[in-house]
Order: sequence, then structure tokens, then C-alpha cells
Amino acid sequence: MGAATDTAATMGYLARALKAPTIGRVWEPLAATARDEGWSHEQYLAAVLSRQVADREANGTSLRISGAHFPAVKTLEDFNVDHQPSLRRDVLAHLATTTWIPKAENVVLLGPPGVGKTHLGIALGIKACHAGYPVAFDTATGWASRLQAAHRENRLEHELKRLRRYRLLIIDEVGYLPFDADAANLFFQLVAARYEQGSILVTSNMPFGRWGEIFSDDIVAAAMIDRLVHHAEVLTLAGDSYRTRSRRELLKTPPTTGADQ
Ligand code: ADP
Ligand code: MG
Repeated sequence: MGAATDTAATMGYLARALKAPTIGRVWEPLAATARDEGWSHEQYLAAVLSRQVADREANGTSLRISGAHFPAVKTLEDFNVDHQPSLRRDVLAHLATTTWIPKAENVVLLGPPGVGKTHLGIALGIKACHAGYPVAFDTATGWASRLQAAHRENRLEHELKRLRRYRLLIIDEVGYLPFDADAANLFFQLVAARYEQGSILVTSNMPFGRWGEIFSDDIVAAAMIDRLVHHAEVLTLAGDSYRTRSRRELLKTPPTTGADQ
């Protein structure tokens, strides 16, 4: 009893006061390790604090990932670059560093359905979460209805300002559904509000030349593209749908058991 219990109570209190639960958990077992392995006081303190910092960072990342509302978990490591021979690997490697996000630069991923645009968008979003940047993911239609709701309730300005807390907005599937003039105008305001303020990553199955059709207005589309690409990497993905290609490859695979074996 006595000193040891006092220390335990004090450490429990201090860990709570610091909001550092990991310290409360590790100070005692690490002290035993320190004694066994002859650590200095400095080494022990550094070990305790680094466990707390590592846990805090891991928690922050998982909060950011769940807060981003990604439709699935996709990583760059799972992305098969061999399927995209024309994709600039140096550009992809640069994007993976996330250094473009503090500079408020944008990314545009273009290409037909099934070539991995959403996959890459999510994967870069997850990299951003790991690097400490808050991210928000939605489809173009999803963003349009959020903005329309805000506009109806007279809080568009407020909503655009609130969205600044996200250092990266991902707008998936621009072009699958056309926008009416009101939605197009709200969309333009979103892009304009983020210009040189915060990053946007856009995916689209339509080349820029056809964005006038999506936004039912060539001038609005041109003004938007202008702001979007001024500081941006534009990557065009090509080829067959990964889904149908892998299905075809499966069908080509000879059966492992059969009449002729
Ligand atoms: P898009 O958004 O271009 O229509 P997706 O990103 O949804 O295409 O890709 C369709 C499916 O194929 C997803 O399950 C995705 O993970 C997978 N996929 C696409 N391209 C690749 C790739 N190069 N490597 C691994 N998986 C891929
Ligand atoms: Mg997609």
C-alpha cells in the first residue's frame, strides 16, 4: 500500500486531467520495461509520450475517415497501375504525398466508367485523412442537393463558409446526371468559393468539352473549368472497365477441375 497506490491514483488523475488515456494505461507497464532494460528517465518519458501521441494520431485519422463519408474503403496500394499504362505514375506519386492540399490545388480525374476514378478519389482522400486534413466526399448530385437545401433555407453563405473546414472536397461523378440552371449556378459558387482557398477533387466521365451539356450552360461551365484547372493536376484514365475486364479474365481462366483432367 502507500506510495505505490498513491502514485497510481495520481497518475490516473493526471492522465484524465491531460485527457491522455494512453498515458494512464502505459505508464506502469512501461516503467517495468524501463527497469528491466535499464532505460534512462528521459527514455522512459519519451516512450510514454510517444505512445500517447501515436494513439491520438491514429484516433484522429479514423475520425477523419469516418467523417469523410467515403462510399467504400479503397487504397492506392490496392490500385493496379499496370491496368492504366497511360497514367502518369510520377503525378500519382506526387498526389499521394498530399502536398497539393495545403496549397489549395485541385485534382480532376477524367475517363469512362469503371476505370478507377472513384477508387483513386477515395484513395487520395484517405491519404489526406492520414496526413491530418479533414475531407468530405459526396457525389455531384449529393453536393447539389446539399447546396440547394442551404440556398432554400437562406444559409448558402454560411454553408460555403462551413465547408472551408474541409481541406479537401471530393465531388464524384460529375456528368452522370445533368444539372438544371439553379443547381449549375450553386455548383459554380462552390467552385468559386474554394478557388485558391481549399482543394477540390472532381471525377467525371465527360471530357471538359462536354461540361456545357452537364451544366446546361457553356459559359457557366467554362468559368467553372477555368477556376478548377488553374492550379490542378488533370489525369485522364483510359481503357476498359476494370469490372468487366476482371470478369472476362475470370472467364478465360481454365477450370481447375473438369472432365478432361
Ligand atoms: P469509375 O469511378 O471510374 O467508374 P471505379 O473506381 O468505381 O470506376 O472502379 C470500378 C471497380 O473497379 C471498383 O471496385 C475499383 O476498386 C476497381 N478498379 C478500377 N480500376 C482499378 C485498378 N486499376 N486497380 C484495382 N482496382 C480497380
Ligand atoms: Mg465512379
